[in-house]
Amino acid sequence: MGQLRFKALEDLLSNSRELLHFDFTTQKASQYYGENVFDISTMQKYVSKEAYKSVLESIEKGIKIDRRMADQVAAGMKAWAMERGATHYTHWFQPLTGNTAEKHDAFLHIDSQGKPFENFDGKLLVQQEPDASSFPSGGIRNTFEARGYTAWDPSSPAFVIGDTLSIPTIFVAYTGEALDYKTPLLNSLTALNKAATEVCQYFDKNVTKVHANLGWEQEYFLIDESLCLARPDISLTGRTLMGHASSKDQQLEDHYFGSIPIRVKRYMQELEIEAHKLGIPIKTRHNEVAPNQFEFAPIFEEANLAVDHNQLIMDLMKTIARRHKFRVLLHEKPFKGVNGSGKHNNWSMATDTGVNLLSPGKNPKSNMQFLAFLVNTVKAVYDNSDLLRASIASASNSHRLGANEAPPAIVSVFLGQYLTKMLADLEGRVSEKKMTPDEKTDLKLDIGKIPEILLDNTDRNRTSPFAFTGNRFEFRAVGSGANCSSPMTALCTAVADQLAQFKVDVDALIEKGVKKDEAIFQIIKKYSIHSRAVLFEGNNYSDEWALEAERRGLSNIKNVPLALDALVSEKTRKLFERTKVLSNRELEARHHILLDDYTLKIQIEARVLGDLSMNHIVPTGVKYQTELINNVRGLKELFSQEEYESLAKGRLDVIREVSAHISSIKLKVNEMVEARKVANKLESPHEKALAYSNTVAPFLEEIRYHIDKLELIVDDEMWPLPKYREMLFLR
Ligand code: ADP
Ligand code: MG
Repeated sequence: MGQLRFKALEDLLSNSRELLHFDFTTQKASQYYGENVFDISTMQKYVSKEAYKSVLESIEKGIKIDRRMADQVAAGMKAWAMERGATHYTHWFQPLTGNTAEKHDAFLHIDSQGKPFENFDGKLLVQQEPDASSFPSGGIRNTFEARGYTAWDPSSPAFVIGDTLSIPTIFVAYTGEALDYKTPLLNSLTALNKAATEVCQYFDKNVTKVHANLGWEQEYFLIDESLCLARPDISLTGRTLMGHASSKDQQLEDHYFGSIPIRVKRYMQELEIEAHKLGIPIKTRHNEVAPNQFEFAPIFEEANLAVDHNQLIMDLMKTIARRHKFRVLLHEKPFKGVNGSGKHNNWSMATDTGVNLLSPGKNPKSNMQFLAFLVNTVKAVYDNSDLLRASIASASNSHRLGANEAPPAIVSVFLGQYLTKMLADLEGRVSEKKMTPDEKTDLKLDIGKIPEILLDNTDRNRTSPFAFTGNRFEFRAVGSGANCSSPMTALCTAVADQLAQFKVDVDALIEKGVKKDEAIFQIIKKYSIHSRAVLFEGNNYSDEWALEAERRGLSNIKNVPLALDALVSEKTRKLFERTKVLSNRELEARHHILLDDYTLKIQIEARVLGDLSMNHIVPTGVKYQTELINNVRGLKELFSQEEYESLAKGRLDVIREVSAHISSIKLKVNEMVEARKVANKLESPHEKALAYSNTVAPFLEEIRYHIDKLELIVDDEMWPLPKYREMLFLR
């Protein structure tokens, strides 16, 4: 029984001894950085000036690239890609499965005379029609109209991986409705650009464009391949559904920032080199808090590009891990009892004049602008906290949000003492009646004194789900396996809408004869008072906070299906309509898909746990029990009744204990199957997901409890699955 586990442990030893031979390049990273990317500067060498200009205009102003220009770009791309050994091309997109999708076609073409040649033209570059019928559409695509289109996104450069030229694209239905993550993200960035640029105009007429920046911090676990293969739960669900805690895990806090095990370091080095060749600016790598947990972070980039790069690196991580006989676990909570993995989304807005709008400046004017963007962001988060919560809700992330061992699902904002005080001070000083010129000058001078490097003054609160960290906000509640588009779209849309409202409010005061500066002060004050309830500086993980948040009227939606409802609330529908990010139908489709995804994930976990319980755990328990029973029989034969009774007592207790756990496991598995049957009959995706959440998911914990107890009792030699202590310490 335990054979597979012991074979896996033997393999683990040989895997860690036989370090993969890896040919470290002696080149500097700056020499190969971006060599597999058809970026703007490479494009300049391969296409005419005219075509190059047309792509630039499309990136900067959204002007359409005509067919003739597209032909030229395609020819340049093909020539460049073939020099890099590419034989195939693909549109690379992000369907609502959460993964990336690609379908490779060869450049090879045969003309009417039967002569072979390499073909790739503007038509193939700009648009394709993959058979889309198997991607989730949430009902948008009727089965009789299964067509979906991918369309080139020139703002994210094409790249070569292996033998394939990959072209980032959006993915939409025949009707133009979005079937992917990229389309709404691009729409939200357009809305943000428009609204933020208009607000910037109050402060600086030279600003013509505002973009969002994103720096993601990717946490992940690694486990040895052989052990992963011996754990069907990890292979099929990405997490351990059972396993007693190791006597030692993270108590000694000796993993965080510790020296990286050599085998892991080689993996990281290879990944970094490949990432750098693909123009992904990986900068930081370190050990995380839990054993086997690590993190990568790049230098931040424009949000759309950063999202593509994150999707790309998640794929790359998985591929390269296999070469090193590892498996990457991007699940938010692969191991119970130790830290889970998140993906902090560091977010800011910047102008085409090179100003970070969330960075305090050097003078009163730039700091008024900073305060305006800061306060508008806080208000957007407060007013749309349920939407932000929904944007990060998933079955796997629920282990990091709202569940046992996890922080509460309350969205609050941390600003740090300095800014919190600054806002309170401003609220007290700006008056509704006309301020005297002296009062105004004083206020401006004080605002001018906001230190540029707030980072040092900001007591970093690690428990806040949305924290200001000196020159950006960190949305920390995002899951490690998530596509960042979803939270970025929600945030950018909410802030875009808020900034548009700010402009309306300020203009209304100006219309009434209030001076511009004073109007801005007054509206900032109004928003600041309005949003006070969302600001929290304390420990977000404490029980007191949950009570306090409730008093403040903040939501704490623990349950995923209920959290997802915010995607189709009246408020969200209107918000997305005003900003033209997603239509009503598109929101409903997404809601539907996410509910189904939740149901299916729990369903799979329940099935895997049921199978493992009945086929692995119960038989092991019975076998051990039989051994004990035989032992007791032997005692009875050998010893006097009196001696037997004293010797057998402990064993009999163990037999009873083992029996009780086995019975409980069987009983609970049967009950879980029944609960699933009931849930499966429900028609509405919402009802079904709720039933899975309320009546099926709790069994996962209950069954696990008994299995983990058995693991502690049963002879180690018999235990069939690798244990936590074996999986969690890579060398
Ligand atoms: P920490 O763990 O201390 O939060 P890291 O260095 O791991 O910091 O990650 C910080 C991330 O934030 C990096 O990706 C970094 O490029 C990014 N970042 C820094 N400044 C900004 C900014 N203005 N806008 C967006 N992201 C930023
Ligand atoms: Mg961080």
